[in-house]
Amino acid sequence: MTQARTVNADQMKAAIAEAGLRPTRPRAALIDQMAAWATAGTDFTCEELWHSAQASAPWIGRSTTFRTVELLADLGFLDRVTFADGSERYHVVQPGSHHHHLTCEMCHRVVEIDICLPAEVLETVQRSSGFALTGHRLELFGRCSDCQRHTVPVIDSVDAE
Ligand SMILES: [Zn+2]
Ligand SMILES: [Zn+2]
Ligand SMILES: [Zn+2]
Repeated sequence: MTQARTVNADQMKAAIAEAGLRPTRPRAALIDQMAAWATAGTDFTCEELWHSAQASAPWIGRSTTFRTVELLADLGFLDRVTFADGSERYHVVQPGSHHHHLTCEMCHRVVEIDICLPAEVLETVQRSSGFALTGHRLELFGRCSDCQRHTVPVIDSVDAE
């Protein structure tokens, strides 16, 4: 979808080594699976990652999977996408890259978008709050074009006026 999906498994393994952590076999198996999904442009949940990694490495534990995802998110290789219902999916990104997401609340599709909050808005927030901003997240959600086509309009909330 964008330029951000060029991260390979070696980059992630090298970053783990640089952080002073051992590239254990479970971590390597999980990273290989995430790198394959990065190439395919597929996003995933921790559960999906765990189940897929188990196909080649049945001894991988659920908590190891969750910790590895947390670690790679901390290292900047994983973007956490939060949906309107609170569920989360991840995708591999180039560390330091910045983009936002459109998410479909029906099929849980994730689309990366290149728009951002205008600099003057961020400056106004800083001035009025006294905060020194270090970052932001912005998730836009709705129904993708496929889901709009396949869904009968909901009446209850719309004609509440
Ligand atoms: Zn992203
Ligand atoms: Zn959809
Ligand atoms: Zn932004």
